[in-house]
Amino acid sequence: MSKIYDVIILGGGPAGLTAGLYAGRSRLSTLIIEKGQDGGQIAITDEIENYPGQMVEGESGPSLIARMTEQAKKFGAERCTDAIKSVELEGEVKKLVGTKGEYLAKCVIIATGAFPKPIGCENEGKFTGKGISFCATCDAAFFEDFEVYVVGGGDSAVEEAMYLTKFARKVTIIHRRDELRAAKSIQEKAFANPKIAFMWDSVVVRVDGDDLLNSMTVKNVKTGELTTVEADEEDGLFGLFGFIGYNPNSKLFEGMLEMENGYIKTDDNMHTNIPGVFAAGDIRVKSLRQVVTAAADGAIAAMQAEHYVSNH
Ligand code: NAP
Repeated sequence: MSKIYDVIILGGGPAGLTAGLYAGRSRLSTLIIEKGQDGGQIAITDEIENYPGQMVEGESGPSLIARMTEQAKKFGAERCTDAIKSVELEGEVKKLVGTKGEYLAKCVIIATGAFPKPIGCENEGKFTGKGISFCATCDAAFFEDFEVYVVGGGDSAVEEAMYLTKFARKVTIIHRRDELRAAKSIQEKAFANPKIAFMWDSVVVRVDGDDLLNSMTVKNVKTGELTTVEADEEDGLFGLFGFIGYNPNSKLFEGMLEMENGYIKTDDNMHTNIPGVFAAGDIRVKSLRQVVTAAADGAIAAMQAEHYVSNH
């Protein structure tokens, strides 16, 4: 029979790794299961400058996450690579079934994250982190005084475009229709902002550059006309931010856990509606999805798991 862990943590991003660190340090037998490489979204973030204490020159997402992984390991959290295909969360022992085997635990912390929807253009992967970003809070400062383009027309796109005007010299919103989806009050502020321009009825079909993004092809969906947008010669690059929604990694838990738009509902202590099942990080319903808030969630979830295990 498989070992019954005190806690299994699903996901090796900042929330999962911090939960692993706290659970291991509390002497819980802990297993972190991650389907790919550790890090979640920050694994693809070139620079992290808004995580407190993160002031190391040239520090990248992967190097921060490598230290988090090492720290969780130091306190005894085991780590395994597997893709979980089904879960049984009710009852005293929770069962997770992956492609490599079955895993049992007294409690589970779900930290599977949420990922921005890709823009969907050719070469996108090649320039993600090299001009293409999905997080203005993380990357706006890198485009101080450059031109920036934002894809999307919802609240996020328009609000983030306004945030970006504090850094960029011009922000152009590229939207696939000729009117915004964003709330009217948000739209009004954007229309009144002299730094914001619009490209209506448009989608980005291809991005190009040498090492960094400096050119893209935009298609007018009504006329089919293709326009090439080039970086200003002196700049040599521009920014392209995608805000067309997020995909939470929560499919596995549909019908079991209470959710809102695919995000798992928890109380302030990360409890879901099932006893012994906690959620932490971007997968939760929350207002700010950042490394620092994910780490905080992970710590709280692990301490709650410790209380749960000691009382069962
Ligand atoms: P959203 O409301 O779903 O808007 C997504 C936008 O991206 C839409 O304008 C959509 O165009 C566009 N889009 C979707 N797929 C696309 C594609 N493949 N190519 C090009 N454009 C595409 O997403 P969101 O803005 O991230 O907001 C998510 C939720 O959070 C919403 O409920 C929103 O109200 C809420 N939110 C609220 C606030 C606030 O209240 N301050 C701030 C941020 C977010 P169409 O319009 O043509 O569909």
